[in-house]
Amino acid sequence: MSATTYDAVIIGAGHNGLAAALHLSAKGWSVAMFERSGHIGGCVATDEVTAPGFRSDLAAANLSLFAGSGFHAHYAEELARHGFALAPAARPFASAFPDGTWLGVSTDLDATAAGIAALSQADADRWRAMVAAFPDEAQHIGGLLNTPMTRSALLKFLWRTWRAKGAAWMLDTARMLMSSSRAWLDREFENDKLKAMMASWGMHLDFAPEVAGGAIFPYLESMANQCFGMVLGQGGADVMPRALAAAIRERGGVIETGVAVEQVGHDGTRATAVTLSDGRVIAARKAVIAGTTPAALVDLTGPTPDPRYDAQARAFAPAPGTMMIHLALDALPDWSAGSELQEFSYVHLAPSMAAMDLAYIQAKSGLLPTEPVLVVGQPTAVDPSRAPDGKHVLWVQVRMAPMEIKGDAKGEIAATDWAQAARPFADRVLDIIERYAPGLRGKIVAEHIMTPADLERWNPNLVGGDQIAGSHHISQNFLFRPVRGYADWSTPLKNLHLIGASTWPGGGTGAGSGFMLAQDLAGK
Ligand SMILES: Cc1cc2nc3c(=O)[nH]c(=O)nc-3n(C[C@H](O)[C@H](O)[C@H](O)COP(=O)(O)OP(=O)(O)OC[C@H]3O[C@@H](n4cnc5c(N)ncnc54)[C@H](O)[C@@H]3O)c2cc1C
Repeated sequence: MSATTYDAVIIGAGHNGLAAALHLSAKGWSVAMFERSGHIGGCVATDEVTAPGFRSDLAAANLSLFAGSGFHAHYAEELARHGFALAPAARPFASAFPDGTWLGVSTDLDATAAGIAALSQADADRWRAMVAAFPDEAQHIGGLLNTPMTRSALLKFLWRTWRAKGAAWMLDTARMLMSSSRAWLDREFENDKLKAMMASWGMHLDFAPEVAGGAIFPYLESMANQCFGMVLGQGGADVMPRALAAAIRERGGVIETGVAVEQVGHDGTRATAVTLSDGRVIAARKAVIAGTTPAALVDLTGPTPDPRYDAQARAFAPAPGTMMIHLALDALPDWSAGSELQEFSYVHLAPSMAAMDLAYIQAKSGLLPTEPVLVVGQPTAVDPSRAPDGKHVLWVQVRMAPMEIKGDAKGEIAATDWAQAARPFADRVLDIIERYAPGLRGKIVAEHIMTPADLERWNPNLVGGDQIAGSHHISQNFLFRPVRGYADWSTPLKNLHLIGASTWPGGGTGAGSGFMLAQDLAGK
């Protein structure tokens, strides 16, 4: 029996694979995607995991990267027709501090600046100046993130930028790109609370304040949230993959869930087919596109023609893990710093840069952190439709957690496997929130804990619960993501491509790798 044949076969239905599938389908390619789990969207998933009627985003919640992406700009109308809608948050993020104060960013610049001015007038002035310069800066820095990491594309980008901005700007920006959050924030601002509020964005990746290359994230997130706010998916983040899947199917694409790809077939130089977990062989005329980790791809292919690729793909390093705690609540937390905090999409509990560095280094050393950094998401403050009337969900992202537990930095938790450590570590997290919002436990209707081990079981791309599918430190980013010479989504096998968070431009919901590769394959 001859194998079923498509122009492109896509491994995994993460949003990057979906973006590639939609663009290739729109360009007339026949496309089939195979997803091992029962759901479409990978890390972008929503479910009633705590109690009926309470919809929790299991992983990604903030869809700002997607909403601001080139892919969304291209397909906005089509996706909207298939139900894609956003819930905007005008008060995107804040930090609460142990002394009972808070500082936050709202899209009302005067309100943000007034909060900062109460701490430092010089910092408020600097913030305003940075915001004023952001539209122009974003055009160029954003341009870099939307540039494929090929030598020719990069040289073109550098040439264009040099002509537009000059050598001094480029050197200053290069310095910023190499800086740690701490080095950059210390250069720009004087107040420690403001610095902590901004630095907490680095912890969404693996940029503790002291790590080189982290400065760009606090900068971009702070400025983008100030200028545009944050957006969540209306009704749940899964509104995004559902719309993508509907658009792909309408254009004739095939999406199957519950079937893993177990092998990539090739003739030693060119990928030709995939073998599925149910034994079917699906042939690919023009491309096999994998949305896996680099190491998992080499497992699927066996040795490729480039042993250096195979070795470096296997050595691609994960970042520390994450634990997610999903709560169904009778009411939002009573933040002692002020009831306004209930209006923010994210409340960071990351009191100082030193506390963030400590949590990171403890997790890197295999220790359960004394005081993990918490991103307390309040999606129902923005989109009440996700819970029954008057009720709420809380999305608690616990950063950082070790993949393998060697001990407890606080000396209280004896367990070294996640099945046993989940409860006491979750209690540590709830204790931290209780310090800032007394009475939280009394509001809990139901909870659902996802340890780093659970996250990896749920999606094997999250090795050790690493939510960004591979460290983003400079040595694994830009031209080195995932392997030098292959940052353009190519692999040593012709027709085989690797996309997704492990590849340039990295983690997040920006759909960059899927869209840029598909544009390249389809000739734009
Ligand atoms: C807890 C958490 C919170 C996050 N929060 C945010 C956020 O708020 N905002 C944001 O922008 N980003 C966030 N991120 C990051 C972001 O969600 C991811 O980087 C992004 O969604 C990854 O997309 P992807 O296309 O690379 O693939 P993934 O979403 O990882 O999907 C890959 C898919 O491939 C499937 N697969 C793997 N191997 C096979 C195989 N052999 N056969 C078939 N299928 C296979 C997997 O099952 C999975 O469904 C978060 C991530 C996590 C884990």
